[in-house]
Amino acid sequence: MISTGSCNTSKLLKHVGLLVCLLLFTIQPLAKSVPYVVALASTSETKTVRHTTRLTSKQVTLKKGDNLNRILRRLSIAKDDISKILKLKSVTAIASRLKAGNHVRLSYDNNRNLQRLTLPLTFEKTLVIERDGDDFQVKKHIEELKTQTRFAIGTIHQSLYQAASDARLPHKLASKLMRIFAWDIDFSRDLRPGDRFVVLYQDWYKGNKLVRHGDILAAKLFVRNKAHQAIRYNIGKKYSYFSPDGRSLKKSFLRAPLKFTRISSRFNLHRRHPVLHTLRAHRGVDYAAPRGTPIKATANGKVIFRGRKGGYGKVVFLKHWGKYTTVYAHMSRFPRRMRIGDKIKQGQVIGYVGSTGLASGPHVHYEFRVNNHHVDPLKVKLPRAQPIPRKYRAKFNIVANERLGQLNLYETAHVGLEER
Ligand SMILES: [Zn+2]
Repeated sequence: MISTGSCNTSKLLKHVGLLVCLLLFTIQPLAKSVPYVVALASTSETKTVRHTTRLTSKQVTLKKGDNLNRILRRLSIAKDDISKILKLKSVTAIASRLKAGNHVRLSYDNNRNLQRLTLPLTFEKTLVIERDGDDFQVKKHIEELKTQTRFAIGTIHQSLYQAASDARLPHKLASKLMRIFAWDIDFSRDLRPGDRFVVLYQDWYKGNKLVRHGDILAAKLFVRNKAHQAIRYNIGKKYSYFSPDGRSLKKSFLRAPLKFTRISSRFNLHRRHPVLHTLRAHRGVDYAAPRGTPIKATANGKVIFRGRKGGYGKVVFLKHWGKYTTVYAHMSRFPRRMRIGDKIKQGQVIGYVGSTGLASGPHVHYEFRVNNHHVDPLKVKLPRAQPIPRKYRAKFNIVANERLGQLNLYETAHVGLEER
């Protein structure tokens, strides 16, 4: 969902009014652009009138150690009502998930008979329990959330986080920006002062209260004058980021199987072995990490070996589709339930760092094999994940053009402002 305010992109590109319109569109007061939808308020009023008894409405914020039972007792709600409410299946299901900071709303009459109770389910859904004679009825209620489109533009001087903070791009979205491009850019090495970004993202509001910084819809990152672009697109319930021509930004393999401290040994066909002290090819990469660090599958695959094997120590072999196999050695242990033949998802933990087998310290020895031929995991050209399927192509092109158009428009306007 994109709210473009009253700006008509194509016409405005040619007009001087562009700047004014963009400014109006971004600085619009929120209260105006985000009408608050509360379906329940009116129901409550009608009831008050019908019963001609006065209802008290309260919102209680849960404190540490609070629970629903305690809150209801504290407000001296009729004991009968409390036990009826706590016996409701959908209430028991969420009562244990309530935590400090959650809001519970309730209304009751003069005799402390509960009329309505509202419990938070997710940030957009609430569970509403209403009196129905002597009993209570449960309804799920979805409060309509409104989105507000936002932009951020920044130039990197010291770090991307600093630039993001200067551009008022929320920290969470700066991390997200890095994750989107992490497949092509090594953020610890590639960035230079003067590199810049433009981001189109969405905030979510309940009424005029910000409830969540939504996701990045489109982004452009200039690294040493090369533009990298990303457009978010949903296929079914899943979303991914694609380049404007529909290629996935994701590679089908993660570059490394864990968060490592350093690379302790590279792929080298003529190396002196640190334990054996003989000349022996090193057909993988060693990632040093503290003992017990989780090791993750670099791609979807199947466990074809899990156990001890000579110098590898405790090792896992994964077979991926087609011609790819990966190997993870010197583990301290495996996940308890993992067996040979199990299907594994990318990022799933398949073991923990150790130093079993021929290892001089805790690390994972990672091999990448193509047609059972060892290749350098740091240099192999990793295959890309699936591009936009053909049947979504036309729709994707529309979304991509619209979002990139918005980004460019904003960028042009911003540059224009700086030059004045
Ligand atoms: Zn090794």
